[in-house]
Amino acid sequence: MGMTTPTVRLYNTFTRAKEELRPVGAGVVRIYSCGPTVYRYVHVGNLRTFMLPDLLCRSLEYLGYQTEQVMNITDVGHLTDDTFDRGEDKMLVSARLENKSPEQIAAYYTAAFMDDAAKLNLNRAAHYPHASQYIPQMIDLIGALIARGHAYEVGGTVYYDIASFPAYGKLSRNTTDKLLAGVRGEVDPRKRHPGDFTLWKAAGAHRLQVWPSPWGPGFPGWHIECSAMSMSLLGDRFDIHTGGADNVFPHHEAEIAQSEGVTGHQVVGCWMHGGLLMLAGARMAKSAGNFFRLSELDEQGFDPLAFRFLALQARYRTKLNFSTEGLAGADRALRNLRERVADWSTDENNVDSGDAEVAPYENRFRAALADDLDMPAAMALVARLTHSDLSPAAKASRLVSWDQVLGLDLDRARPAATLPDGAPALLEARGKARAAKDFAMSDRLRDELAGLGVTVTDTAEGQRWRVAKPRP
Ligand code: AMP
Ligand code: ZN
Repeated sequence: MGMTTPTVRLYNTFTRAKEELRPVGAGVVRIYSCGPTVYRYVHVGNLRTFMLPDLLCRSLEYLGYQTEQVMNITDVGHLTDDTFDRGEDKMLVSARLENKSPEQIAAYYTAAFMDDAAKLNLNRAAHYPHASQYIPQMIDLIGALIARGHAYEVGGTVYYDIASFPAYGKLSRNTTDKLLAGVRGEVDPRKRHPGDFTLWKAAGAHRLQVWPSPWGPGFPGWHIECSAMSMSLLGDRFDIHTGGADNVFPHHEAEIAQSEGVTGHQVVGCWMHGGLLMLAGARMAKSAGNFFRLSELDEQGFDPLAFRFLALQARYRTKLNFSTEGLAGADRALRNLRERVADWSTDENNVDSGDAEVAPYENRFRAALADDLDMPAAMALVARLTHSDLSPAAKASRLVSWDQVLGLDLDRARPAATLPDGAPALLEARGKARAAKDFAMSDRLRDELAGLGVTVTDTAEGQRWRVAKPRP
């Protein structure tokens, strides 16, 4: 097919512009993504943010790149906050009441996160580092920051000295004045600047997780974990860092100050941030109690991938309003699309369209991906292809191919919904017979299948089948 390879442009929050992707390591794009905090279940807002690196990796791979993704698991710090969020789930409360260890709590919610991610067809990252396993690396970074004059210790607690890093505030476009105005609550009077953030905190009384350090027993701040894990696994120059829009400040601003403070050079090529998922005009948040879990939607009868379909209809950077009506619409559209793919795959008059007719669709799909992951444009193309006069076979094969990026299981309805009773077992038996080179048996099974109206052909990829539509 006359395919073109478009230049990939991604929106960089740091420069507020779309920039051409130029991977540091030829051919491999290295990506670090802020992951979940595992003392509670993730909600679909969190999952929207985690879908960004999934779409990014799938798109880049579709366009011929290799990717290496790291997503961290935050199992330190937040885990032992002394106050519970409002609307805290019973599991954590019961875990506390049952005297579970932070490790047990983290293991439970990490597994729950992996389940949700799998339900949403999020491809697995190459690495899922746990913050608790990187304490020595964090301590090293903090030591280096003190040595370089970017941090200071007071009474066993280490703060980052934001005045020592003139670029502090650049990512979030915060000025020191605004930072000052943004400081709420009581400020530790030992801080040089109220905006100085914690790198290491001396352990208070009721802490469950405490590590020894050169500054005494304590635990790391939240931001330092991502500097430590990203640079440990991807090196001190990597291509893309993702997170939610709410991570820009303070989390990623602090990460830049830390990583660049230690290395003396730019570490992250491109900062990508996903827009927030809203519910009735407010940010979906665990602490406010206004959230849905993917499994709740599942229990209500929605296909979990309907949420994926919904998310694909908005650009990743824009806010997206969640509603069950919207989800219901996405669910219907998704099921409908799968049925069409099934019908088209088994159409009787299945002649493929010529490459020349298909190529423009393929090229526009690729161009949409390359344009800062323009999924609404890609989904519009799905609709356009659906209503085009391409052959059914061409439509089905394009959609199944695009599904490598969309991840909607578009071919799910194909075998089950269309093969007559008994045919799947015969196909399976015939596949085995062929593998065992029992051609007499395989021919007999082919005849049996033909009797059920299923035509089988053998291709390099294995058996292909078609079902004749019953005559009216
Ligand atoms: P947390 O487990 O609280 O650290 O959150 C995990 C990720 O979810 C973070 O990267 C947040 O930016 C993201 N996130 C939290 N709330 C929302 C929301 N309403 N919409 C989209 N992303 C969110
Ligand atoms: Zn992070």
